[in-house]
Amino acid sequence: MSTSLTDTRSAELYERAQRVLPGGVNSPVRAMKAIGRDPIFVERGEGAELTDVDGNTYVDYVCSWGPLIHGHAHPAIVEAVTAAAADGTTFGAATTGEVDLAELVTQRMPAVDMLRMTSSGTEASMSAIRLARAATGREKLLKFAGAYHGHVDGLLADAGSGLATQGIPSSPGVPVAATANTVVVPWNDEAAVRAAFAAHEFAAVLAEPYPANMGLVPPAAGFLALLRELADDNGALLIFDEVISGFRVGPGGVQELVDVLPDLTVMGKVIGGGLPAAAYGGSVDLMSRIAPAGDVYQAGTLSGNPLAVAAGRVTLELLDDAAYTKLSSTTVALADGLREAAATYPVQVIHTCGLLTVFFSSEPVTDYASATRCDTTAYAAWCRELLARGVYPPASQFETWFPSLAHNSEHLERTLEAACAAFAEVF
Ligand SMILES: *Cc1c(COP(=O)(O)O)cnc(C)c1O
Repeated sequence: MSTSLTDTRSAELYERAQRVLPGGVNSPVRAMKAIGRDPIFVERGEGAELTDVDGNTYVDYVCSWGPLIHGHAHPAIVEAVTAAAADGTTFGAATTGEVDLAELVTQRMPAVDMLRMTSSGTEASMSAIRLARAATGREKLLKFAGAYHGHVDGLLADAGSGLATQGIPSSPGVPVAATANTVVVPWNDEAAVRAAFAAHEFAAVLAEPYPANMGLVPPAAGFLALLRELADDNGALLIFDEVISGFRVGPGGVQELVDVLPDLTVMGKVIGGGLPAAAYGGSVDLMSRIAPAGDVYQAGTLSGNPLAVAAGRVTLELLDDAAYTKLSSTTVALADGLREAAATYPVQVIHTCGLLTVFFSSEPVTDYASATRCDTTAYAAWCRELLARGVYPPASQFETWFPSLAHNSEHLERTLEAACAAFAEVF
């Protein structure tokens, strides 16, 4: 028997929300449809814990889908944001804080010497693509099935019928023309990437170096280096979307870990410390094409917003070597514990520092097709059981878990106890 949650106030709010917000939410995954339940309305968060409007408390493994690497309401971040707000929330003018944050980022990310801030990862990837097209004088993009780079029209593309053919829109409202220049190939598929390069002249190949939007599906050995090599040989730029991996898997993102340097890097989530901020960056040469230094137009009313910049600065400053050691050991303890809990079931746990996915399949997951073959119905049932036991997992198997620096051994204990009981209910 599963424990049941009190949900009276969430249910009332959901009624009201559905009348004024499509599906009752402002971003689809929050509706929790993929795990077959109604949304939970959150009242507050503190450290690694969330409390909903009905007073239920959860150990939170979503952490706003990545930004909250220090957990909710970290005192130093709250203080920095509060102080910034007291000085004025936005000026639409240059400030000290944005220069400080840009310096911190360029010190950490090996391939970023200059950057432009935006308010969302979507805008940052859209702008990086514009720059890549301007720099190469080409229009085509290569992307990977199951990768997410924000809701940019041209990137909402599925693979066409054959490999290395143009992408087809994956949402109504996206013009065929918008995806006509996007070629979609399977992740980790060397032959498909080579065939695509043979058939097209790309402006850029765009990749999440550690894809985390089909669940966590690491690159095969040498795959990122191959992308670098093929981009170089064919006059294309390599763009790493490190919106999730940046400042999370290590101070300098995946690019530092694997020593494959992209031409352009897209950043978001952690860089804003829980406020809306993102950025794209690269060499001084490339970034000097951006207006007003250069001729490629891109702008934003709230870009480099003082509150977001203050949160981002403190977030990065708190991420010293000890923080990554701790985040890594927390992730390993969680992953090992979940593996042990799942030992007798067809379940596998994939992890890297600060990221984790529980795939309901015993087959290897190497790309989007194998990720979609997992038993998402069982995952959904397991998630509902976890929620009933005070653990808040991502409400989709295609999203990763985001352990944070606020998760301690007591949180992990509660999580693993709930996970064992939830597995027993599902299988
Ligand atoms: C979240 C995400 C984005 C989009 O960022 P938003 O701030 O939601 O627009 C882009 N790329 C990746 C890899 C992401 O995970």
